[in-house]
Amino acid sequence: MVWHKKYALRYSATAWMAFKGGLKTADILNARGIISSNTCCFCHLENESMAHLFFECSFTFNIIKKFLPWLGNLLMKPNLFQVFDSVLDQGFNASHVNYYLLTVCASIYFSWRARNDRIFGGILDCQNTLPLGRSFGQPGAMLLFCPIRAWNR
Ligand SMILES: [Zn+2]
Repeated sequence: MVWHKKYALRYSATAWMAFKGGLKTADILNARGIISSNTCCFCHLENESMAHLFFECSFTFNIIKKFLPWLGNLLMKPNLFQVFDSVLDQGFNASHVNYYLLTVCASIYFSWRARNDRIFGGILDCQNTLPLGRSFGQPGAMLLFCPIRAWNR
């Protein structure tokens, strides 16, 4: 579901690591005795964990909801697995499924990068600018906005 020939490798690799618990979130670092702030750098309300970052956090949930609007109909914020499952549950054809799965993978990549930029670089993106990327020349950011018609080619 994560790996696909049309996916950019960095998006798939980051999503794969998120699924496997390979991204070093605060809860993992604390469990290993590495001192780190537990608080989510986006919402500052909850402890940071894989489930919280993807996508139980209001910040990242609001971003993914812009690309997958049907998530707004859920009663609770979904976790990573539920977001991927929701794409498959929409009844889309294969091209649209691939497009939305790529979008989820890219959202994970850019959210993780924004998290690291906040913690280590002091760079803050808001919910509206993060999906755009800091530079419009950034190919990954533009990919999120390519029309589905172009994706089918
Ligand atoms: Zn949060």
